[in-house]
Amino acid sequence: MGSPAKHTKQETCTACGGSGMLRQGCDSYRTCLVCMGVGTVAVHDQEPVTVPAEMLSASSFAAK
Ligand SMILES: [Zn+2]
Repeated sequence: MGSPAKHTKQETCTACGGSGMLRQGCDSYRTCLVCMGVGTVAVHDQEPVTVPAEMLSASSFAAK
């Protein structure tokens, strides 16, 4: 298939706790619709918090 273009990581589904199943009752389970029964959900990594410009200029200034 395609190559991953963006940072995605898998995190444990909080709805089912990673089991992929939701308990409905005594002996009844159903597939967790949040993770589609996988137990993990893909989360898109956001860009890290930008460093303040003054910090960047200060460090580059100091590097010279
Ligand atoms: Zn789930």
